[in-house]
Amino acid sequence: MKLIFLGPPGAGKGTQAERVAKEFAIPQISTGEILRQAMREGTKTGLEAKTFIEKGELVPDGVILEIVRERLRQPDCESGYLLDGFPRTLPQAEALEGIARIDWVLNLSVGHEVIVERLSGRRSCEGCGHSTHIGLAPDGICPICGKRLVQRADDAAEAVENRLRVYDAQTKPLIGFYEGKGRLLTVDGGLPIDEVTATIFSALRRAAE
Ligand code: AMP
Repeated sequence: MKLIFLGPPGAGKGTQAERVAKEFAIPQISTGEILRQAMREGTKTGLEAKTFIEKGELVPDGVILEIVRERLRQPDCESGYLLDGFPRTLPQAEALEGIARIDWVLNLSVGHEVIVERLSGRRSCEGCGHSTHIGLAPDGICPICGKRLVQRADDAAEAVENRLRVYDAQTKPLIGFYEGKGRLLTVDGGLPIDEVTATIFSALRRAAE
């Protein structure tokens, strides 16, 4: 099964993608996480991406497409995968059509206030990249690896506003793109996390029948 997770920043794509990947035994490919890993390692791609990411802007399509092409060539992608945070622009979506036949696009729809609340409380582990909410880890320690939880630079207020503007202008048009192809499944991402997961699982099982 080849899936895309679509939705504004803070819609819960990462959290839900992790659960779906586990349930359906497919790798979760998060372009944001690949870029953050490259930034932590200080690679050329990481340095190139840093300025865009910290301002809440999109990394150029060419850089992202190279990362995705390379990742999808890995053997673990043979029986399917889940793309989390890619594609984010129409040119990326069009390029993907030439690389793979995506089965379903899960669109997590969430209101503006929920997004702002989730992003301002989001914390990310500086060791393993695990993402959580400050309310779930008030001691500021990663529940997975025990390292420190920090706020992502792009979760600061100005960057969040920019990311939401970028989403509306560049990523939202993908909803219509995939709707037109009859591959869109929209789920209310504003519900409690476990309810969203249950809705996604049943939507995917129904779609696969
Ligand atoms: P995310 O973890 O998905 O919220 O991504 C964090 C940041 O990485 C985004 O705000 C972008 O700057 C960059 N990024 C991730 N995926 C893409 C993409 N498909 N196209 C362009 N930039 C991306």
